[in-house]
Amino acid sequence: MLGKKKTDVVVVGAGPVGLFSALLLAEAGLKVEIYDKDWRGSIHSYALTLHSGSLRLLNQVGLSSELIKRGRRIGRLAFYEKGERMAEIDLTKLDELFPYALVLPQCHLENLIEDKLKEKKIRVHWNHRVQDLDLQNKDRVIAKIERLEKVSLGYPIAHQEQLVNKTLEVEAKYILGADGCLSRMRRVAGIEFPDVLEKMILCAFEFQMEEPGKEEARITLAPGEANVFWPMADGRCRMGFQVPKEPADWPDVGTLNRFIQERTPWCREAPEEVYWSTIVHFDRRLAERFGEGRVWLAGDAAHVTSPAGSQSMNVGLREARDLTQTMADALADGDSETGFQKYNSKRVAEWRQLLGLDEGLVTAGGNDDWIGKIGPGFVPCIPASGPDLETYLAQLGLR
Ligand SMILES: Cc1cc2nc3c(=O)[nH]c(=O)nc-3n(C[C@H](O)[C@H](O)[C@H](O)COP(=O)(O)OP(=O)(O)OC[C@H]3O[C@@H](n4cnc5c(N)ncnc54)[C@H](O)[C@@H]3O)c2cc1C
Repeated sequence: MLGKKKTDVVVVGAGPVGLFSALLLAEAGLKVEIYDKDWRGSIHSYALTLHSGSLRLLNQVGLSSELIKRGRRIGRLAFYEKGERMAEIDLTKLDELFPYALVLPQCHLENLIEDKLKEKKIRVHWNHRVQDLDLQNKDRVIAKIERLEKVSLGYPIAHQEQLVNKTLEVEAKYILGADGCLSRMRRVAGIEFPDVLEKMILCAFEFQMEEPGKEEARITLAPGEANVFWPMADGRCRMGFQVPKEPADWPDVGTLNRFIQERTPWCREAPEEVYWSTIVHFDRRLAERFGEGRVWLAGDAAHVTSPAGSQSMNVGLREARDLTQTMADALADGDSETGFQKYNSKRVAEWRQLLGLDEGLVTAGGNDDWIGKIGPGFVPCIPASGPDLETYLAQLGLR
């Protein structure tokens, strides 16, 4: 075994939440090491949309103008039932610095944060898997890390495997687990991650399409079914269609045109080509707690939900802000537990609301039947959380 480092915080996972956490810890003057088991960040734009609240957070670390330059502003979210427009939210009606949602591929966000980290002389340790934690000592934790190497095996079928070429131990005050929905840190800490709602399966497509409405995203809702349309840069767009079970065949341009005819007749186009298509399963899960002792979670490691409003990643960025502040305060304060307990209870409460697990969303009166019928179904579709989400829901007559 080689190497033994000491640091304040080990961040596990260099997705958007882990990268942002590492940057905030560095800004707070803490020592941080960040590890990711993969060879690089994401190359596709999974989560597409940055909320106004995320832009405000990213503004505090000097990233908002670069992001806005590369992204596309969306000022309105319209709701349809098949071809009929039923309601809309004006996303610009927010008394804030960035009154819109910004469509921007997740990989651009990750690259920009990684560049900022490099400016601070912090390098992501790609190809390093945090395999286990030694939690014996109450004052510190030891992360057991494997450095991975890819080897090509040419016979009988060419494929690549990962070999462990080095193991190392890093001693830290805290572990920040931002290691995604399959989180190993969550499992090592013994935290349950139960299903709280039915799994959602989505067929998603990216293709070229003339804008149906300027700076407008659209959600077509029916009972048990959400179909989403988000315009992207360069005349491209993404459409996602919720399906009851995994289709037998890979979704292609024929599938896309069938979905458009049956579910989103407001769309008058018949695309001839798709650039990208996929089938994604979104479990809807919530961690029973967001951490314990020296191991704390943020982002998809603690929650997964419908992708329609990109809430998992965006709320994850807020969690990164809260958790890194809590860690900085605890270290300055002699490892007080109080801040972590507050973090846990606030996070669980917010996610119970976002997932609609508690009673709470009521019509404020005066809205039509359709809005009342969809009710809580709007929440995961709206690109916002916290007070911004309340402001937007109020436009639908919901509170
Ligand atoms: C196919 C797909 C499509 C999606 N589409 C959408 C969408 O349309 N809209 C939307 O809002 N969201 C979408 N998402 C979800 C979105 O990508 C996540 O919400 C977001 O990436 C969460 O960020 P995160 O940093 O919490 O976790 P992640 O981005 O999952 O990052 C976790 C990181 O941890 C690393 N890691 C895991 N285990 C270890 C370990 N033991 N040691 C070291 N590193 C480790 C992983 O390699 C990964 O880089 C999609 C996700 C997928 C996979």
